[in-house]
Amino acid sequence: MIDFKQKKRVVVKVGTSTLTHKTGKLNIRRVEQLVKTLADLQNAGKQIVLVSSGAIGLGMSKIGLTTRPKDTPMKQACAAVGQCELMYLYDKLFADYSLTVAQVLLTKYILIEDRRKNVENALERLLEYNVIPIVNENDTVAIDELELEVGENDSLAAMVAGIAKADLLIIMTDIDGLYDKDPRKFENACLIPLVENINGEIRDCAGGAGTALGTGGMATKIRAAEIAVESGVDMVIMNGDKPKKLYDLFENKPVGTLFTTRK
Ligand code: GLU
Repeated sequence: MIDFKQKKRVVVKVGTSTLTHKTGKLNIRRVEQLVKTLADLQNAGKQIVLVSSGAIGLGMSKIGLTTRPKDTPMKQACAAVGQCELMYLYDKLFADYSLTVAQVLLTKYILIEDRRKNVENALERLLEYNVIPIVNENDTVAIDELELEVGENDSLAAMVAGIAKADLLIIMTDIDGLYDKDPRKFENACLIPLVENINGEIRDCAGGAGTALGTGGMATKIRAAEIAVESGVDMVIMNGDKPKKLYDLFENKPVGTLFTTRK
């Protein structure tokens, strides 16, 4: 059995659906609870790396758009506005608990050997100084047309977990974990607590989808699990609606779906 108490270096990924209301505006209570819980875990000796989406979502609401833009320049403009808002919030909220945050904006280029090393060194130094790195894709340069884009933060978080040599990756989303069928359509859908082998059947359970505000869906989470497990990092998908459930996870209570290759 995996002992979550022993997991020290933890990458936590939160999506736009966790951070914002359906209106696109910030879910203040949720974000406050998330920061409080993460700060407490950091104080308890964990090393938290937060991968946070929400730049485009917060930017669009600040600029005054009601639907997520489809064209690249508008997405980039929203991300540029929203990223400031996001970091302002995290900086302010973590400072309440005397913790320092750092903004780390990455692109697919981190997979290239020498750049990977740079990111690894910077993250290592930040963690050594008890700083919480807050990672997002550098949306104003990472554009799909130039194939610079990871495109979604689930895979980015998995890459970061590998580079940071994390003990655990936690993906917080708007559903309790991976189900055998879509629980939004089928009442008898069952949560799968443990996945030891990511095969075709598991990929079929994931389907497609995503929400109007975020870009993910379950399929990108399975891809992230493959990347994480491949680099030896266990991964949990859990609901981000009550961030305090992170305590349950670290007390080895059943939470979400665990992807692991270890026994
Ligand atoms: N980088 C995008 C943002 O911060 C999010 C990508 C995603 O939703 O995974 O808005």
